[in-house]
Amino acid sequence: MKIYPFEEFMYETLGGRPNQADWTPYLGKSYECACGTTHTFDESTEVLRELSGMRFVIQCPQDSFLTLIKITIFRTLNPCSEESMSAIQFT
Ligand SMILES: [Zn+2]
Repeated sequence: MKIYPFEEFMYETLGGRPNQADWTPYLGKSYECACGTTHTFDESTEVLRELSGMRFVIQCPQDSFLTLIKITIFRTLNPCSEESMSAIQFT
């Protein structure tokens, strides 16, 4: 997991649109968060942005982190590949 400064993270995740995806198939899946723990995706999970390539910016439910995740064709939640994987802590 690579942690980016806030400005760089926002630049990396520029564009996209407010989340419009149907998350029902992903409820109960877990993902690795920037805060260092693994969270389970549920109804209360806050998806902030929807980006191209099935990438999404997710708000950490416990801390002020943002994590960029990518949904694979197998419908698991994975951190994005090293070059685009991003996370940030608000200050
Ligand atoms: Zn977290």
